[in-house]
Amino acid sequence: MDRVTHFVDGKPWTGDPGRQGDVFDPATGVVSARVDLASAADVDAAVRAAERAAASWRDASLARRTAVMFAFREIVSARAARLAEAVTAEHGKVLDDAAGEVRRGLDVIEYACGLPALLRGGFSENVSTGVDSYAIRQPLGVVAVISPFNFPVMVPLWFVPIAIACGNAVVLKPSEKDPTASTLLAAWFAEAGLPEGVFNVVHGDKEAVDVLLDHPTVRAVSFVGSTPVARYVYERGTAAGKRVQALGGAKNHMVVLPDADLDLAADAAVSAGFGSAGERCMAVSVVVAVDPVGDDLVARIAGRMAKIRTGDGRRPGCDMGPLVTAAHRDRVAGYVAAGIAAGAAAVVDGRDVAPAGDPGGFWVGPTLFDHVTPGMPIYTDEIFGPVLSVVRARSYDEALELVNRNPYGNGTAIFTADGGAARRFQHEVEVGMVGINVPIPVPMAYYSFGGWKASLFGDSHAHGAEGVHFFTRGKVVTTRWPDPRHGGVNLGFPTQT
Ligand code: NAD
Repeated sequence: MDRVTHFVDGKPWTGDPGRQGDVFDPATGVVSARVDLASAADVDAAVRAAERAAASWRDASLARRTAVMFAFREIVSARAARLAEAVTAEHGKVLDDAAGEVRRGLDVIEYACGLPALLRGGFSENVSTGVDSYAIRQPLGVVAVISPFNFPVMVPLWFVPIAIACGNAVVLKPSEKDPTASTLLAAWFAEAGLPEGVFNVVHGDKEAVDVLLDHPTVRAVSFVGSTPVARYVYERGTAAGKRVQALGGAKNHMVVLPDADLDLAADAAVSAGFGSAGERCMAVSVVVAVDPVGDDLVARIAGRMAKIRTGDGRRPGCDMGPLVTAAHRDRVAGYVAAGIAAGAAAVVDGRDVAPAGDPGGFWVGPTLFDHVTPGMPIYTDEIFGPVLSVVRARSYDEALELVNRNPYGNGTAIFTADGGAARRFQHEVEVGMVGINVPIPVPMAYYSFGGWKASLFGDSHAHGAEGVHFFTRGKVVTTRWPDPRHGGVNLGFPTQT
């Protein structure tokens, strides 16, 4: 049985494993590895290693940091397939999808390769006679990243390269459900020349998270996960005086107006609803069909769903893999039952799926409900599985109100041929990431990723300029180089002269 260990101070942890958890192959249901679950002392050791490293890494020249980042980029790029295999083996998503996640992670590494430009400050000459001011941004010190199971490569890479490029040292606590990818990233960062202790990985659960949230040496926390935990992390971390960005769950609506290209909309709904078995924070889980397109759109979506092949993500030809754990499979299947009990029309019931894979896998096939209403649990809750709900709306205004009334505000999309309607939607909708005829509008690395309302606690989005801002703090220096004209003692408040 493989053991997945922490990675601290530049090397794999060889100490006593202490508590451990099971890691499953979700396509077979078999335990594939045991992961160490960090104790408070283990987390403290990682934070101490990061603290020692941060003291010198902040002084590493921009040229040196850039060289490490380019070397890391080359290694990840050359071994992208290996990383994708590790994701598929523990998460279950199909290999192509895992490769896409690695690519989006590489985008952020490449963005961080531009760190000298990202960290450039500002200078003002002669703010007063003979006095100059300049603004610089400096690293925070030790920062923590806590990530979810559904993107074991991309989400850590939203934060880690930028934090390190900015001169911080990082302790990553990835999801204990699919821990291998992050340990690979840590080993490859070390191989790229990153000094020991600048990037540490501790595996674990709430016990490890709580130590990071309370630890006085940890200056900032970037969290991604479900809304209840995001809220908890934000409140506990900020109460301990830390800077916290906590990205939470989602219930993403896709509005289809009557003038939309219905084939494009149906393709988009199926791709964004069932890709990664719906285990994406930007998955479409609600299609709002504005009258009179409902019947036609539902028929087109159902027709496409019949062609989706659910099975082992390693097998060629499979489009959708299993769910991550048996417990999650049961939870999603429970929502399908709850949808039927609440009176929604089950157009396709994924519990009947015949997967191309081991019967022991955690399977639920693509599921489609029509005539869903806002009071039903399949509408109110984030299911995080392959369950798509169609809600009928009588007008654009009714559709917009539905989106804006929802407590989440991560992503949304509108499908229409009318530029004016699209522009009105982008202006009026209370959601952080908006797609116009694009179903999963995940911003590129050089823009920032983040939702509104219950989808994000804190005011900084991930990566892009906001990421650089989050991992640095500003300092403004005002200088005068005295000369004989300095004017002598003056107790008055300094003003521009
Ligand atoms: P989760 O909230 O269960 O876990 C996230 C992290 O928190 C993991 O590292 C986990 O070990 C830790 N954790 C879990 N319970 C905890 C507790 N009680 N106290 C402290 N730490 C705890 O989320 P998940 O199931 O791994 O991931 C799926 C969720 O993440 C979904 O809700 C999804 O929408 C969300 N997500 C959001 C985004 C985004 O950008 N907004 C991106 C990806 C995933």
